[in-house]
Amino acid sequence: MENLSIFNTGVRLAEKVLGRIGVYVCPLCLKSFDANDLSEGLLSLEHVPPKSTGGKGIILTCKKCNNSSGYLFEGDFKKKNKLISAIEAVFQLSNDSPHRFKMNLSGIETDVKLQVDDGRVNIEVLRNTNDPKQISQQLSQLKIMSDGDFRGLSFNLTTSQRFKERNIELSFLKSAFLACVAKFGYSFCKSNSTDEVRKQIIYPEKDYFEGFLFRKTSEIDGENKIIYFQKRNVLLCIIDNYVVVLPIPDETLDDYNAFVEEYREINNATLNGIDHGWPSSFEGIYD
Ligand SMILES: [Zn+2]
Repeated sequence: MENLSIFNTGVRLAEKVLGRIGVYVCPLCLKSFDANDLSEGLLSLEHVPPKSTGGKGIILTCKKCNNSSGYLFEGDFKKKNKLISAIEAVFQLSNDSPHRFKMNLSGIETDVKLQVDDGRVNIEVLRNTNDPKQISQQLSQLKIMSDGDFRGLSFNLTTSQRFKERNIELSFLKSAFLACVAKFGYSFCKSNSTDEVRKQIIYPEKDYFEGFLFRKTSEIDGENKIIYFQKRNVLLCIIDNYVVVLPIPDETLDDYNAFVEEYREINNATLNGIDHGWPSSFEGIYD
C-alpha cells in the first residue's frame, strides 16, 4: 500500500515535470516503470537514510539501482557500525553481543570471539574456525609466557569487518540525493549539476563528484534535515553526524565547488539557512 501511494505520486509528478505519461521514473537511472512493473516487484522501497540508521521508506527506486548501490553501500555501512559498537563496548566495558576479531599473539593468528561481560573483556579462541595446530601453537606460546618468559611478546586484535570508506561516503551521498528528490521532486534530477551526483551513485567505481562529505564539528540537534544555504547557494543535508553538500539544480557546479574550496568544516553557524526538514514521503514540493 505504501509502495502504491509513492508510485502514484511519482506517476503524477513524472507527467507534470518530465512529460512521461502513466509511468514512475526511477530517480537514479531515470528509466520508466509502469503499474505492471510495480506488481512484478521491479520497484522497491528505499529507506532514507538506510534502515540500520533509523531511516524510513520514502521513495521507490528500480531493482537494478537498488541492488547495485544498496548492497554495496549499506553492507559496508553496517560493517562499520558493527566495528564501532565493538570498539565502544571494549573501551566503555559495556555488555554487548560478541564480536569476532583476529587475534595475533606473537605472530600466531587465530579467530577469536570478544565479549564484554560485567566489566570484563573475555576473549575466546574459536574452536570451529581455527586450525587446531594454530590453537596449540598459541597455547604453547601462552605457556611460555606463564612461565615468565615474556620476550618478544606482542598481542593485537584486528577486525574481520572489512569495508571501504568510499562506499560509506557514497551511502551518505545516495541518502542525501534521494532525500532531495523526495522533498523537491523530479525537478531536482533535471539539471547538469545534479546529474553528476546521480551518475556518481549509479557508477560508484568512477569519480564524478568529490568533496561532498563533511563531519559536523559541533553538536547540532539530532534531527536529519535539508537546509538551503543561501549565502553560498548549496544544499546541506544533515544525516547523523555528517553533512552532505549538494549543488542546487543549476547549469554549473561553480557554487558547489566554491563552497567545498572555502569551507573546511561545518558548524552551527554554517548551517544557518532555510530549513526544509526531512521528507516523510515523496513530497515533490517544487514539481
Ligand atoms: Zn533505476
